[in-house]
Amino acid sequence: MNDSYDVAVVGLGPVGATCTALLGTLGLKTLAIEREEAVYDKPRAFSLDHEVMRVFQDLGIAAAVAPHTAPFTPSEYYGVDGQLIKRLGALPPPWPLGWPPSMVFNQPAVDALLRQRAAALAEVAYSELEELEQAKKEVTLRLRDRTVTAKYVVGCDGAASTVRRALGIEYEDLQFDEQWLVIDLLVSERGLAKLPKVSIQYCEPARPSTYLIGVGSHRRWELMLLPEEKDPDPWKLLSRWLTPDDAQLWRAAAYRFHALVARQWRRGRVFLAGDAAHQQPPFTGQGMCQGIRDAANLSWKLHHVLTAKAGERLLDTYEVERRAHAKRLIAVVKDIGTVICERNVDRARARDRWHLAQAGGEVVTVPRQHLIPPLEDGFLSSKSHSANGTLFPNDGGTGLRTVKLGESEGAVAQWFKNNACTAAIVRPDHYVYGVARDDAALERMLKDVAKQLR
Ligand SMILES: Cc1cc2nc3c(=O)[nH]c(=O)nc-3n(C[C@H](O)[C@H](O)[C@H](O)COP(=O)(O)OP(=O)(O)OC[C@H]3O[C@@H](n4cnc5c(N)ncnc54)[C@H](O)[C@@H]3O)c2cc1C
Repeated sequence: MNDSYDVAVVGLGPVGATCTALLGTLGLKTLAIEREEAVYDKPRAFSLDHEVMRVFQDLGIAAAVAPHTAPFTPSEYYGVDGQLIKRLGALPPPWPLGWPPSMVFNQPAVDALLRQRAAALAEVAYSELEELEQAKKEVTLRLRDRTVTAKYVVGCDGAASTVRRALGIEYEDLQFDEQWLVIDLLVSERGLAKLPKVSIQYCEPARPSTYLIGVGSHRRWELMLLPEEKDPDPWKLLSRWLTPDDAQLWRAAAYRFHALVARQWRRGRVFLAGDAAHQQPPFTGQGMCQGIRDAANLSWKLHHVLTAKAGERLLDTYEVERRAHAKRLIAVVKDIGTVICERNVDRARARDRWHLAQAGGEVVTVPRQHLIPPLEDGFLSSKSHSANGTLFPNDGGTGLRTVKLGESEGAVAQWFKNNACTAAIVRPDHYVYGVARDDAALERMLKDVAKQLR
């Protein structure tokens, strides 16, 4: 076995498996290192979005993943006195990215598909990374039973990341710290008949809680734990909705929800991605999605640099783009968490009044995807346009490409009209680099791209 690789990916959770499979698809010699041979059989992530499905499409597994997903039902927020104060929903079809903007999914099933794809496209070592050491041209990774080298390493090894600790990188604490109990049930027909038909945020000061509708009979409750509660009985907390005769307990686990972002995402030849780089409360279900964005962002840049299509400095744009984006989205999630988690009745009533006033007295549905910000800095055109750094609609394309209005139809043609331009340079991760109104402007932008890649 040859022990030197283009890239070593540490961790085969959803982010590491996606990163490995993307690098393998691009033809890079990749080693994934994972200490657990079996996929974790309980769900943690509950929802994913259309951007993630398009990455799965790039990996050739979207059709296999689709049966393990369902469109996310609307989420209704109820205030102190049980009144509707906010409603999140989905944009109706046609969907610009080709998939429902927000979906629930069965994480163990999707993790297994991702691992299979990664194993088909790269080598997998079921072992544990113990130490790593960087030299000028490569990184040496000492595994439990073997030593390997790689030109680059991506640490996708989760919240307790060995890679992050080996690099001595600290988290920036974005100040959120709440203890919640997460309960997953498989509910019988009789139980389902008793439950709400949409997902609900109970913004109740006595115990803020979330009820989520998953795939098939899967239902999740996230319930804030009170300071004095150490080991609560899940069925007691669920008694408002169901009894043990109505459902099978899949899992109950207490979590500290916090908001943390690694201070650095790259040191030399080593990068952090996924939970190793950021953690956030699950409100809006974006933790894993953020990690898959990291993988999509970094994999094409590593490919460009390793195949001499770009200079090393392209790799610096990974942290510039993804760290700022993750922080902005975590700020949005924290704001939602603050709305949900208010424990003071007077302040909660003021919150309810504020939301209703904002809605002009009548709550309208806000699309969930409007919460996701664009990229604002990095490998983007210096000629500013509101489309730069946003996701391009699903044109079926791959790689760094120019897409023209004259050759487009459907959602893509409509996108050009909405953005008053005739051509777009689209990155391999499907973000818009820049747009042009005519051929001369496109020529100038292509020169700009070549310059930035040098
Ligand atoms: C209650 C809850 C609800 C959530 N809901 C959502 C949601 O709805 N949507 C969403 O997008 N996200 C959600 N998330 C977040 C999501 O679960 C995580 O962001 C995601 O699972 C992280 O994936 P990862 O691949 O980065 O890390 P992990 O899944 O933690 O994978 C890390 C892998 O690295 C391996 N590893 C670690 N150290 C080593 C080592 N030294 N050597 C070898 N292998 C190693 C581990 O065995 C593991 O397999 C939720 C999280 C929680 C807790």
